[in-house]
Amino acid sequence: MNVGWISSPAAVYRQGEDPAARIRFPIPAYLIETETERILVDAGLHPAAIADPASFYGRPAAGLFELEQEQAVTELVDVTTLTRIVLTHLHFDHAGALALLPASIPIVIQHREWEAGRDERAIRRNFFYPRDYALEDREIVLVDGDHDLLGDGSVEVLLTPGHTPGHQSLRIGDGLILGVDVGHFAATLDDHRFPSFADDFAAQARSAERLRALREGGARVLPGHDPEVLCPGPVELGGAGGS
Ligand SMILES: [Zn+2]
Repeated sequence: MNVGWISSPAAVYRQGEDPAARIRFPIPAYLIETETERILVDAGLHPAAIADPASFYGRPAAGLFELEQEQAVTELVDVTTLTRIVLTHLHFDHAGALALLPASIPIVIQHREWEAGRDERAIRRNFFYPRDYALEDREIVLVDGDHDLLGDGSVEVLLTPGHTPGHQSLRIGDGLILGVDVGHFAATLDDHRFPSFADDFAAQARSAERLRALREGGARVLPGHDPEVLCPGPVELGGAGGS
């Protein structure tokens, strides 16, 4: 699903771009459906942040971005039917609409990402906006490292840190990886032209190598925000995993 768009100086999201160039890229969220589960992967933008992100978040840095809403996640999915929410990381384009989702649905996040969201230095370095994840009444499922989400091997979260301290990707079946912001663009896994900001560039490079190796092994790896690759609609599982 596409919840919206970010426009910003291109060099913020891909090192080496012309400093004067701008880029507009999509903000995806995903719904994984099994026989018994409906799992939302990321929540996208908070609708109230669109018009004036700097004042919504009380952070001037948020004014660097121009935001557009395509459809809020609550319009795209009947959120009352969700069984879990997997949050890949705490950035506002992934966590923004969490507050609009029913409080009864557990949120799965890496332990170290959750901790970083409570650490002032990590918050500043990573441009986290605590308003997005002030979820005191929620069930938060903290995981450490790779984690078999449903206990049957079908969906696994993969710890892929660097972009943020506890960024996670997902493996679905044998053939599909949601790489998320390990690489904003498909080419990032090869050229390592990461955004100009990161929690840890060396860790991000290792995460990119990990996903590249999975791709070389035959998996399809979806990038985080590549306008040339991402489009709304069903995603083929690919690989040996079937339909
Ligand atoms: Zn992102």
